[in-house]
Amino acid sequence: MNTFESLESEVRSYCRTWPAVFDRAQGDSIYDVDGRQYLDFFSGAGALNYGHNHPALKRKLIEYIERDGITHSLDTHTSAKRAFLDRFDETILQPRGMRYKTMFPGPTGTNAVESALKLARKITGRETVVGFTNGFHGMTLGSLSVTGNAMKRAGAGVSLPNATCMPFDGYLGGETDTLGYFEAVLDDSGSGVDTPAAVIIETVQAEGGINVASFDWLRRLADLCARFGIMFIVDDIQVGCGRTGSFFSFDKVGIEPDIICLSKSLSGYGLPLATVLMKPEHDVFSPGEHNGTFRGHNPAFVTATEALSFWEGDTFSDEVLLKGQTMGDGLREIADGLDGVSAELRGRGMLKGLAFDRPDLAGLVARAAFTHGLLIETAGPDDEVLKLLPPLTIEEERLETGLEIIHAAAHEVLEGAVEEVSR
Ligand code: PLP
Repeated sequence: MNTFESLESEVRSYCRTWPAVFDRAQGDSIYDVDGRQYLDFFSGAGALNYGHNHPALKRKLIEYIERDGITHSLDTHTSAKRAFLDRFDETILQPRGMRYKTMFPGPTGTNAVESALKLARKITGRETVVGFTNGFHGMTLGSLSVTGNAMKRAGAGVSLPNATCMPFDGYLGGETDTLGYFEAVLDDSGSGVDTPAAVIIETVQAEGGINVASFDWLRRLADLCARFGIMFIVDDIQVGCGRTGSFFSFDKVGIEPDIICLSKSLSGYGLPLATVLMKPEHDVFSPGEHNGTFRGHNPAFVTATEALSFWEGDTFSDEVLLKGQTMGDGLREIADGLDGVSAELRGRGMLKGLAFDRPDLAGLVARAAFTHGLLIETAGPDDEVLKLLPPLTIEEERLETGLEIIHAAAHEVLEGAVEEVSR
């Protein structure tokens, strides 16, 4: 039995899909201990939007460590934190005319979500929070209460109260207006649904199967929240930080969330960092009312500050949109060439996927792709969606290489399946 099997908990999961021992990584590539190179279409589940060990970020980090810059500081003031707050304000908030205060909870996405839910409850004095079908917000109890996945919810081992689930855009298929239902129950004092403290939404549900909410639906949802005094929380932990082509996933939607959660690629380097942005009038926590030992990790501030350079001007954003187009075209071609199965193209920007009508296929294709040196994961309630999350910084040529591997893997799997049936 190897070290991991004998010493690490059974809860480990990605290592089961990718049975390698990884050792080093650069850009779009990750190498195992035997020196084998893998093209990374996973990007740390969205935590590595600028690839592995980006040279500019690495330089700043090394300089900071070499000069004995503060590593741990709880929430005392540091020069690294000040530099991040100023740069974030200048590069992201001010150009958008956004006025928000920034809170640093513990360094993971679920810490940001927990803080946002507590804050919304404190602001409104109400208890319930509305989440959406197939939403994913993290593994702690509050986040799980607004997460859809049955297996993850069951892991809580306790009931997950104070949350209501509403149908996401498109959940009921065809022309059914899912928001119409939410609106009707809010408007009806006999509906049995209390006015919630907050609504928490991903504009594109990444873990839940790459379900894209339409801009119109999101605008109507924001209007509905405003009408009922409900805090409108956007969880941009996975699809923010540029994944859909602009820094915030809602930049082009024309909405102004009350609260925004960011984490994953915020540090740009895979270092843990999370923020909750709130409108100044919602900044109501008393000092220390929500805290945590690892709030605002200084080395992460250093790389996060440098990563904001990507968002000065529109060049990077335009590149992301173009590469997203390449991904969409490539996947459509793969889907059109598959015999006997149908695969629906989903996604926005550089988060794209294929939803197969045969749920086992996505996992089989991901496994076959691994044998050809590509890391790619699955999403959706039945893992039926092949989910592409390459680094935003990837070269077009490497993007094409990954798409070719997916094409080959899909054909290999389907031909294998045919052989199995005829045997
Ligand atoms: N919210 C969203 C949208 C996520 O995708 C995730 C993680 O995948 C989380 C919250 C939880 O983040 P973390 O795993 O860092 O706690």
